[in-house]
Amino acid sequence: MNVANSKTDILILGSGGAGLFAALHALKANPDLDVTIASKGLLGKCGCTRMVQGGFNVAINPGDSIERHFMDTIEGGKWLPHQELAWTLVSTALERVRELENEIGCFFDRNPDGTLHGKAFAGQSFDRTVHKGDLTGIEIMNRLAEQVWARRIQRLEEHRAVELIKTPGGDAIAGVLFIDMRTGDYLFVRAKAVLLATGGGPTMYRYHTPSGDKTCDGLAMALRAGLALRDMEMVQFHPTGLLAGAHTRMTGTVLEEGLRGAGGHLLNGRRERFMPAYDAKAERATRDVVSRAMFTEMRKGNTTPHGGLYLSMNHLGPERVRRQRLSR
Ligand SMILES: Cc1cc2nc3c(=O)[nH]c(=O)nc-3n(C[C@H](O)[C@H](O)[C@H](O)COP(=O)(O)OP(=O)(O)OC[C@H]3O[C@@H](n4cnc5c(N)ncnc54)[C@H](O)[C@@H]3O)c2cc1C
Repeated sequence: MNVANSKTDILILGSGGAGLFAALHALKANPDLDVTIASKGLLGKCGCTRMVQGGFNVAINPGDSIERHFMDTIEGGKWLPHQELAWTLVSTALERVRELENEIGCFFDRNPDGTLHGKAFAGQSFDRTVHKGDLTGIEIMNRLAEQVWARRIQRLEEHRAVELIKTPGGDAIAGVLFIDMRTGDYLFVRAKAVLLATGGGPTMYRYHTPSGDKTCDGLAMALRAGLALRDMEMVQFHPTGLLAGAHTRMTGTVLEEGLRGAGGHLLNGRRERFMPAYDAKAERATRDVVSRAMFTEMRKGNTTPHGGLYLSMNHLGPERVRRQRLSR
């Protein structure tokens, strides 16, 4: 087997939001480092971060608090989340949104008084989802990619990592073996540190919303290298996606959560609203609750001719739908 070789200080697998942020932070900590980002797709174009429509939750506006965001997260997770990790998430969200706007160059939607606009999202007791219309991920990824392109960061695009290679002693990772997806050639990159930012993988499901380059192979590599994985049963199901028939890849396209947040109703095949019977928060319950309720309704046979359910905005009227769409 012919294997080309190269080396770097920090090798980051994955070029979504996590990978690009990690590269920028590593270089900020030490500008002399040799940082390499490798991913299955093109930098800025692949992965799920680009697909984020809704936005991200941050307790930044008056009336809200980090404690309240934390409790929404813990209660939404039925007290299962690791509380220290949840606290890190909600408290550093403030730093991240400021960094994204002031250092990375993102610009999120604002209220007339200049504060950040927070939209309603499932499981949140405060409208705290910061966004750029419904193209939040594109804004974040475009600006992050520009920052990466502007720096001395090596890129290995369309390179699939296939194995973490250990040192001869077997007690550390020496580097990563890749397949160049354009040529089929192998490449071994030696690295002092390897960071896995390859995300999860939904492709075992017939219908799924995430990017097709996410196949769980990053996690599998980690497992083969003897690393512990945690909370593997916590697969998240996005409740609403388009059912447009088996002939089109449009089927599975996400119908974003903001539709339910803005007042959209879920209707069964008889066009009856069913969510209030399952949860007091109705369509604004968390994704797991809504997914289970929808699945129960479908198993009862209360489906549309396509075998799904309806997500209706009709009752809001064209004026409100148009106004909310334009103001985001
Ligand atoms: C349709 C959709 C909507 C969403 N909306 C929201 C939202 O509104 N709010 C929110 O907070 N979250 C949302 N999410 C979740 C969010 O997108 C993810 O949690 C987040 O983007 C994950 O970032 P990441 O950097 O870890 O992974 P990703 O952005 O998915 O990047 C993974 C990277 O790893 C690379 N990779 C994978 N395997 C390999 C390999 N073997 N070798 C090399 N590279 C590899 C991929 O090519 C890609 O570059 C949404 C997800 C989807 C799919």
